[in-house]
Amino acid sequence: MFLEFFESKGHLAMKSFSLVPHNDNSLLLINSGMAPLKPYFTGQEIPPRRRVTTCQKCIRTGDIENIGKTARHGTFFEMLGNFSFGDYFKHEAIAWSWEFLTQVVGLDPDRLYPSVYENDDEAFAIWQNEIGIAPERIFRFGKEDNFWEHGSGPCGPCSEIYYDRGEKYGCGKPGCTVGCDCDRYIEVWNNVFSQFDNDGHGNYSELKQKNIDTGMGLERLAVVVQDVDSIFDVDTIRALRDRVCELSGKEYHKEHAWDVSIRIITDHIRSATFMISDGILPSNEGRGYVLRRIIRRAARHGRLLGIDGKFLANLSTTVIEGSKDGYPELEEKKDFILNVLTQEEDKFNKTIDQGLAILTDLEEKMTAEGKTVMDGEDAFRLYDTYGFPIDLTKEILEERGFSIDEDGFNAAMQKQREMARKARKATNYMGADATVYESLDPAITSSFVGYDKLEAVSRISALTTEDEVVEALTDGDKGTIIVDATPFYGTMGGQEGDKGVITSADGKFAVEDTIHLKGGKIGHVGYVVSGMFKLDDEVTLSVDKGNRSATCKNHTATHLLQKALRDVLGTHVEQQGSLNNAGHLRFDFSHFSAMTAEELAQVEKAVNEKIAENIPVVTKLMTLDEAKKSGAMALFGEKYGDTVRVVCVDDYSKEFCGGTHVSNTGEIQAFKILSESGVAAGVRRIEALTGQGVFDYYNDLEKKLEEAAKTVKATPANLQEKLEHLMADLKSLQAENESLKSKAAKEALGDVMDQVQDVNGVKLLAVSVADVDMNGLRDLGDQLKEKLGEGVVVLASAKDGKVNLIAMATDAAMKQGAHAGNLIKGIAALVGGGGGGRPNMAQAGGKNPAGIDAAIAEAAKVLAGQIDK
Ligand code: ATP
Ligand code: MG
Repeated sequence: MFLEFFESKGHLAMKSFSLVPHNDNSLLLINSGMAPLKPYFTGQEIPPRRRVTTCQKCIRTGDIENIGKTARHGTFFEMLGNFSFGDYFKHEAIAWSWEFLTQVVGLDPDRLYPSVYENDDEAFAIWQNEIGIAPERIFRFGKEDNFWEHGSGPCGPCSEIYYDRGEKYGCGKPGCTVGCDCDRYIEVWNNVFSQFDNDGHGNYSELKQKNIDTGMGLERLAVVVQDVDSIFDVDTIRALRDRVCELSGKEYHKEHAWDVSIRIITDHIRSATFMISDGILPSNEGRGYVLRRIIRRAARHGRLLGIDGKFLANLSTTVIEGSKDGYPELEEKKDFILNVLTQEEDKFNKTIDQGLAILTDLEEKMTAEGKTVMDGEDAFRLYDTYGFPIDLTKEILEERGFSIDEDGFNAAMQKQREMARKARKATNYMGADATVYESLDPAITSSFVGYDKLEAVSRISALTTEDEVVEALTDGDKGTIIVDATPFYGTMGGQEGDKGVITSADGKFAVEDTIHLKGGKIGHVGYVVSGMFKLDDEVTLSVDKGNRSATCKNHTATHLLQKALRDVLGTHVEQQGSLNNAGHLRFDFSHFSAMTAEELAQVEKAVNEKIAENIPVVTKLMTLDEAKKSGAMALFGEKYGDTVRVVCVDDYSKEFCGGTHVSNTGEIQAFKILSESGVAAGVRRIEALTGQGVFDYYNDLEKKLEEAAKTVKATPANLQEKLEHLMADLKSLQAENESLKSKAAKEALGDVMDQVQDVNGVKLLAVSVADVDMNGLRDLGDQLKEKLGEGVVVLASAKDGKVNLIAMATDAAMKQGAHAGNLIKGIAALVGGGGGGRPNMAQAGGKNPAGIDAAIAEAAKVLAGQIDK
């Protein structure tokens, strides 16, 4: 009736949007009719019509505490709405809501009460003057009630309509009137005049176009129309409630605690069913966690009611039955929904008893210790090991007067996440995968159909995440898809696997790698770009053409290269390893010395000639014997079946090969060897490029050449000449520099000779010089020794904050008792160091340049002690 009424007022009726928001990070789940329409309100997208009406499925987890306790809240509900995108405004919106409620639905106008935002005199006036409501029946409320906003985006003042259900629903308190929290006056309609935009940080700006957004809970309207207690008594929901009673053998309205549990299950199973139908899967994060909480909470209340074993899938069939007309996706995904529920309930059941026992122990411990707050760590253990969502633990504890240290819980969670992240880094990709794939059904196999086509339609036979075999993958999930028949080549025989995309009716999966798994399965490894993929889905597999074609060029070129190497180097050349991908080729082969430049040039030329000859590349299936007779090259030590695939480039090259190839050598375009090197004893490696790779290589080289020429102010043409000039200049400058240096050193020598002292008949030259390293000191020492004739030289120098010390003694000085090693030992402590050495020559390092003068002075004393008188 609602949708038809607004269609008659020029609105376009649109289907409910998914519960999963599209391109909107401010919301985890769609929680109102307007939420999925935000881009129309902000003007980012153009609506199909400026008047739209919908019946939107909604989830509000914020209301979870109210569920079962109030008459009017569900986590799941359907919201009817009429929307104006810059079209009609307050006058029409108010008039039509009144018209619909009083004339179409037939509610008694005397029981209806409008409210407006406290400052919205305009709306007040419309109600009073245009609709004719007495002013004392129009209520003004503050921001909390009558200003609508959820996250960022359009928002504005509201005008609500309340229905008085009569005294029997009232709380009986003196001030009970419109706006009271009890269930007598129930809000059935909310007109939002969205005229502002919230940037998400509480800054409001006036919208260019003013919009109307309304929200009317379908269940609440039904409560009023059917004149029943609560949304749980509305005919459709009641059928579900009755099923819960039946399954649990509990009567409704017998015991308050039972009623709460019955209502919670009734509500939660609706939410869970709808969420799964929109591709949300239970997990420990985001939407998946909301779903997990809801399912586990329902499961636990089932236990409170004494239900044995699994029951959620059973209940879900009632939800699907009741709602499939409006939401056909429920019926389409029925098996899947039931499967997910069963799996999740199973997981929870396995641990819930243990978890509850532990919780009881903890409670006893807290009581004994006189504590009322549970440790965050303990709550986290219940979450982590026994799958108890924090609010479930909280709820159970609250029932018994305890609470949880939530900060502690969050800290424990954070710690574990970091550990998991680190652990993940330690296991490599393949290592992590190996375990997942082992749990796949061995009966599943895949065939490869991609030799002559790059696209195929097939059926999904298995799915995994990085660590679990699953029923489905959704938005953002990383994992592996396996199908019956695929055009994707899986890494094998040196050829890297294909990349590409897998698409389904509502999903896109990016294939980043294709691999062979045990038991004849081909795995497409990647991530879900959008939508979802589930078992048995029909999908289209499309190989990335460019990537495949570049890989084929490199692979065929590898065959040509092997033949050319055998021709140039000899038939001892055998393949030892090979890698072909879109970027390059790598070929390892037996050969015992480095190839000469000439050999490399010959090989490169031979391959390029075969490319220029445009030879067809043909693959043939032969028996093993036939193949061997034809002279085809097999891989050394490889086992082959009875029939083998042989890739032939005319008679030039014949190789056993399962890979993909170009159909004509001309497609390879060009071949360029980049490097030749040794990888092991008797094994050489060639890396090379083909096709566009060669052109890119030369373009890059050309650019570098131009850059280099520019640096020396030349052009590529005269670069050689210019460099020769520069080198000649450099050489003469270096020679000049050398002669200047030695001249300077000699001058320094002249200066120090007058510092020679006589120590008991032995000449000692002990001086410090600035900024000379150990090598320089040694050179200088040698020169000074020569100048001195006979005697002892001690040099100290501070360089880079450290001290270098050397001592040298000539033969005659040594004969008189001088000992360079002991001399150094005797003075090094003064510069904060130590050292020693032979009698003729010793050196030491120190940390204290300030001690240099003292060390030099000390040298004479130490030497004096050494000389025999
Ligand atoms: P309440 O104060 O009762 O929670 P609300 O102000 O949060 O309601 P709105 O955000 O204005 O509600 O949503 C528009 C309409 O959607 C409401 O008038 C009501 O009919 C319906 N609605 C909102 N929340 C729920 C819910 N949890 N369960 C069922 N219907 C709901
Ligand atoms: Mg609310």
